[in-house]
Order: sequence, then C-alpha cells, then structure tokens
Amino acid sequence: MAQLVRGEWQDSLAREGLAPVTAAPTGPGEEPPCPACGSTGALADGACPDCGLQLA
Ligand SMILES: [Zn+2]
Repeated sequence: MAQLVRGEWQDSLAREGLAPVTAAPTGPGEEPPCPACGSTGALADGACPDCGLQLA
C-alpha cells in the first residue's frame, strides 16, 4: 500500500508540474548564501568574504 500511495503522490506532483524537491534551490556552481550575513560571494579560503565566517 505504501508503494501505491507514493505513486499517487508523484502523479499529483507531475500533474501540477512540480518535481520532488531533494536539494536546496541552488544550482551547481552557485555558492549558498552565508548563514551569518547572507553574502553570496565566492568563498575566500573557505571563509565568507564579507564577515569572515568559516564555511568550508
Ligand atoms: Zn558572511
């Protein structure tokens, strides 16, 4: 039964033009915004270029 329910859910999404969301809405190559200051600039040595928060 679980399989049937999951299939119906996917059919519903397909009818509405929605794909299952499995990841953050950032594409490959895009930097996620800094959680502290919201900067989307490229990381500098793994740290936010604006506030210096270590992100990587
Ligand atoms: Zn920052």
